[in-house]
Amino acid sequence: MEETRILVVLGTRPEAIKLFPVIAALRADARFAVRVCVSGQHRGILDQVLDLTDIRPDHDLGVMRPGQSLDALTGALLSGIGAVIDAERPDRVIVQGDTATAFAAALAAYHRRIPVAHVEAGLRSRDIYHPWPEEVNRKLIAGIADLHFAPTQSAAAALRCEGIADSRIHLVGNTVVDALLWVRERNRGAPAAGPVAALAERFQWRRIVAVTSHRRENLGNGLAEIAAALSRIAARDDVAIVFPLHPNPAVRAIFEPALAGFANVALVDPLDYPQFVALLDLCTLVLTDSGGVQEEAPAFGKPVLVMRETTERPEGIAAGTAKLVGTNTDRIAAETFALLDDPAAYAAMARAHQPFGDGRAAQRIVEVLTGMENRAGEVSRVRVDAA
Ligand code: UDP
Repeated sequence: MEETRILVVLGTRPEAIKLFPVIAALRADARFAVRVCVSGQHRGILDQVLDLTDIRPDHDLGVMRPGQSLDALTGALLSGIGAVIDAERPDRVIVQGDTATAFAAALAAYHRRIPVAHVEAGLRSRDIYHPWPEEVNRKLIAGIADLHFAPTQSAAAALRCEGIADSRIHLVGNTVVDALLWVRERNRGAPAAGPVAALAERFQWRRIVAVTSHRRENLGNGLAEIAAALSRIAARDDVAIVFPLHPNPAVRAIFEPALAGFANVALVDPLDYPQFVALLDLCTLVLTDSGGVQEEAPAFGKPVLVMRETTERPEGIAAGTAKLVGTNTDRIAAETFALLDDPAAYAAMARAHQPFGDGRAAQRIVEVLTGMENRAGEVSRVRVDAA
């Protein structure tokens, strides 16, 4: 039987985290020949993730230019990925999530009439400017893809509401849970080492607040408000803040001056994925504007305060481990202090569960793709309750 040629296109760290389990599962199945194209939207922090499972990209486009506009980036991605598709002539393209890379890859595939599978389909905030431009990227991808791998019931329902045929929607869970559980096992089997073990040693008796923040739509005032809230939290001696800073200079320019003077604040370089997972394991609570971190922290039973106006991941909030707090300084500080000072409030949010999946999403994706190829268009239905 001839192999099905799959081209996986990815550009950023979260895409690498959420796609490495899929690439590994496809590679383990002789029916597929998998090629990987990285756009270079993120560089070093993406390679760290792929190195974990020895994935070597077959194409590397290196599209990032300093100060490049979204138009220029999207244009470069479209022509670069189009050329890779012309060279590889895949039977199918796989994209993940909502980045400019994922959208450009879907569009380039569509221009060549090549089917697109979308991993983590159906997330919607219903506000096209939050998150920006991701909300529109994922809606545009949904208009192109013929296979939609929804992580949760509500994502599948959102796709149905937009008129996508039920037979094309597969509820598989979120591959981030596959990645997280795999890395957690790997971490727990190894002696504690690396920057997070050193920080645990340094902040021994303090409760650790893990922070990530770099959303594009928060750049400017949103991040300044968040920085002010963090400096208020850092004024307490019983906590330490561990904040892996995104490499984006505009982000660093806001947080470094606001927090540099505190001995109990560690502004560190981006952590590799196993180290970040170790930080989630170690901390008391999480403040974040990231999408992926909202999905990961509940698995560790760590309360998450989401510093955004809207979220396309309502499952954590419905389950009670996440709370949407926006970017107002007073609100972020007050919600953090409530969790630090009120054991009942903390206990109510600190429950380990996995509302986003069960760690077998990648395997289900491979099953669906196998069914597709075997039955020439008649899709094998996979139904799981990801909750
Ligand atoms: N992450 C990481 N190292 C860090 C910070 C985050 O590996 O120092 C991981 C985190 O576990 C999550 C992902 O990066 O899976 C989130 O990426 P990001 O916040 O860039 O994007 P988003 O999830 O908002 O798309």
